[in-house]
Amino acid sequence: MKYIVLDLEWNQSSTGTEAEAETLPFEIIEIGAIKLNDECVMIGEFSQLVKPAVYHEMHHFTSKLIHMQIQELERGMPFAEAAGKFLDWCGTEEYLFCTWGSADLTELQRNMKFYDMTPLSDKPIRYLDVQKLFSIAYEDRKSRRALESAVDFLQMEKDIPFHRAFSDAYYTARVFAHMVQEMPELLHNESYDVFNVPKCRADEVKVQFDTYAKFISRVFADKTAAFADREVSSSKCYLCHRNLRKKIKWFTANGRHYYCLAYCEKHGYLKGKIRIRKTDEGGVYVVKTTKLISQEAADELKNRRLRAKERHIKHGQESD
Ligand SMILES: [Zn+2]
Repeated sequence: MKYIVLDLEWNQSSTGTEAEAETLPFEIIEIGAIKLNDECVMIGEFSQLVKPAVYHEMHHFTSKLIHMQIQELERGMPFAEAAGKFLDWCGTEEYLFCTWGSADLTELQRNMKFYDMTPLSDKPIRYLDVQKLFSIAYEDRKSRRALESAVDFLQMEKDIPFHRAFSDAYYTARVFAHMVQEMPELLHNESYDVFNVPKCRADEVKVQFDTYAKFISRVFADKTAAFADREVSSSKCYLCHRNLRKKIKWFTANGRHYYCLAYCEKHGYLKGKIRIRKTDEGGVYVVKTTKLISQEAADELKNRRLRAKERHIKHGQESD
């Protein structure tokens, strides 16, 4: 298994008036990548400027961040050609993408779709979010650091400037290699890019991590249809795979996040959380996580349920 550590720079509309602002909110202007072998040794590098075709003015965010003039990009390659060259460079052997944060693979695919290129996949893509791995390794799993601050934390030498695609891929690769050498078990913490939402049951994603399980459903017409699906609404213990009876049925305080509480005779309390996500086409899919929790955390969830109920009554929309 090889790793392709990818970093993209993109520009966005300065005026919001372009017809493409809807379909291509972020236009990729630079692709940088590092190839690592299965021992995390650097075995290749890729760097390519992209000639803009949609946004011909640099948005102030972009210019502040990457210190590049739009004129420089004029010597870049048209996107389809640059992306094609990048994918050729990735090669045909199996590889896993690694990125700092969760945005790059989505934007790469959105740009490829804009130019009618052959899609990378028609399903969610498994990858490693190195920013998340960093938080799992050294912090609270939830916070997210800037790349440079992670490099500082690990006291790595800063030998090239930040905020260009190649240099950010290079630092991400170094942080990644360092962490994996120290804690190889980090590699189990895979992420899924859902630019392509699962279209059928077979494409749905089910993964078990050390302390929780995750499920990404296929697309449904709406929330009601999603909750009518057994796989969505069930609360299964991920250790013994039993379907559990719920102590508290799915409830929500804001209409986007739902929680439930179930109990496994063998493993204790299980908390379910569902996030409702909208697709560009107007459907919905759910990301469900289930986690075994302590008695105290279960009590806290019961209280949250009571508070949500009070709020609903106050607004005259009690429902179950
Ligand atoms: Zn169990």
